[in-house]
Amino acid sequence: MKLHRKLKIISAEDLMNFNQVETYSKEGVTVLKGLPAAPGYAIGSAFVYHRDKIETFASVVLDTDEELKNLEYSLEKSKKELNKIITISREKIGERTAGIFEAHALILDDQLLFGPIVESIKKKRYSAEYSVDKEFSKYLSVMKQTDDAAMLERAADVEDLKARIIRNLQKKRWESRLKQSVIIVTHSLTPADTLLFSRNEVLAYVSELGGITSHAAIISRSLNIPAVVGIHNVLKQISNDTQLIVDGFNGYLIINPDETLLTFYRKKIERFQIDHDKLKEIKNLPGETIDGHRIKLSVNIELLDELDFAIANGAEGIGLFRSEELFFARGTFPTEAEQIETYSALAEKMYPGSVVIRTFDIGGDKLLQEDYFEKNPFLGWRGIRMMLDKPQVFKDQLRAILIASVHKNVKLMLPMVTTIDEIEQTKLILEEIKSEFTKTKIPFDKNIEFGIMAEIPSVVFCISEFAKEVDFISVGTNDLTQYLLAVDRGNEVVSDKFQELHPAVIRSLKMTVEGAHKENIKISICGELASNYLAVPLLIGLGFDELSVNEHFLPEIKKLIRSINFSEAQNLTEACLKCRTHTEIINLSRKYLKKIKWEYN
Ligand code: PEP
Ligand code: MG
Repeated sequence: MKLHRKLKIISAEDLMNFNQVETYSKEGVTVLKGLPAAPGYAIGSAFVYHRDKIETFASVVLDTDEELKNLEYSLEKSKKELNKIITISREKIGERTAGIFEAHALILDDQLLFGPIVESIKKKRYSAEYSVDKEFSKYLSVMKQTDDAAMLERAADVEDLKARIIRNLQKKRWESRLKQSVIIVTHSLTPADTLLFSRNEVLAYVSELGGITSHAAIISRSLNIPAVVGIHNVLKQISNDTQLIVDGFNGYLIINPDETLLTFYRKKIERFQIDHDKLKEIKNLPGETIDGHRIKLSVNIELLDELDFAIANGAEGIGLFRSEELFFARGTFPTEAEQIETYSALAEKMYPGSVVIRTFDIGGDKLLQEDYFEKNPFLGWRGIRMMLDKPQVFKDQLRAILIASVHKNVKLMLPMVTTIDEIEQTKLILEEIKSEFTKTKIPFDKNIEFGIMAEIPSVVFCISEFAKEVDFISVGTNDLTQYLLAVDRGNEVVSDKFQELHPAVIRSLKMTVEGAHKENIKISICGELASNYLAVPLLIGLGFDELSVNEHFLPEIKKLIRSINFSEAQNLTEACLKCRTHTEIINLSRKYLKKIKWEYN
């Protein structure tokens, strides 16, 4: 997306904040805005990576046995390559991320897919390349007939697998070794590219396609390599060795930066490194405002592997464990035993810090069973709605959570709650399991805390009734914003309408915090808003007891909280609650950050 607004600027000293980078205008310099997929900054030269175009022709073969042998060879080779990638992934990132590639390897054994390919070679005498291309393309066109981001992500994985098989049939090699440290710029980045290129010194990734929840983005974040994705047509403007700046915090790509921008970013990088060292010093200090108001700082995690990094960054607890990741990793519901293993490991590693395990939130933008499609999945069979319809799956999960609660630091949380009835039904199931455990002497935490996400407006508007039913509440602003403003959280076309600081959102947060506190229960926020520096003073002023944030942002958010005065934050909140537009709220928040000389907004 090219930015059109122009501004007269500026010396390096004048260029005080990132908002001005967005509007920077100077001949020869281009500033593009994409999606910030992995945090960090990089300055360096481009390496344009064009994946070989896959071209196959409907050629007929004479020797079909020979062609079947070629297919077998290619599948074996592809399997070996994937096994190597799985090993590298395990070494560099961890067990769970390897699951992305294990899922690719499983497709290689899919008879439903390969049966017709073999038939096409045997009966129609088509070449293996053409047969693979044709059958995979059929399969892909079905997968792509959806708006479901997770399904589209899977389609991208299948596309990558198709390319791998055909490349091996054509006996072409894929070269991932680079001679120097570069910023990789490409049309689309596959998870395998991201991982394999990272064996070199990759400074950053930039891609034309992709979203922040794509597998490639997840891997980039795990590898601590900055990435900006979703910059359409960027390849037309860049060739090898073009000078670039990548700002993975704000989603900027700067082409041919001038001295002003280079100086600005060099300072940022220097400051970021110094701060990173300094932040280590505050690691063990509490999240506390200057005037002594204490905020608990915890993290949202999806994988057990992320926990070490989160603890190293000073997390006091896990405010949200998105348990559905276990489902994605396997493609089916995990067994009770697998869940016990994961939840217990989380609880033990985090001890004495607490761990909020959210029951499966499947549906919406999250992967559904392959044969199940909905026209409006975000308004459909999702989260607690699905779990109450699948009592056995739900019971297995609740049992596993209770077993892991034995150290008394596990909490249970329900997603997508709309009605009191859903809470009551869950409590009945839970009580049944608890009495069975008591009878059979299985140890568990009898007082395990039970909470819900406030992410549907019905909970906000009836907050006192909901708050009476639970021990804690966590606000999911990603969904709450989506449902309050009727804006699809994953739709790029309306992304400018997804205003997390819209007055309606802020006023809903106030109602929710007040309602929870009236019932004397703790309230946290685990939506992405809590990781947004601009929003942090406002959230503190609203009275949230806990922020559950992205682990990468935690040290800086703690530093920010330690630079805020609680009474000033309350005044800011009062003023924001009177605003008419989200821009007014942003401006007031920005002004406050400027006043306290906070530079990372
Ligand atoms: C939310 O909706 O804000 C949230 C934290 O949950 P998820 O992003 O997993 O839907
Ligand atoms: Mg949600």
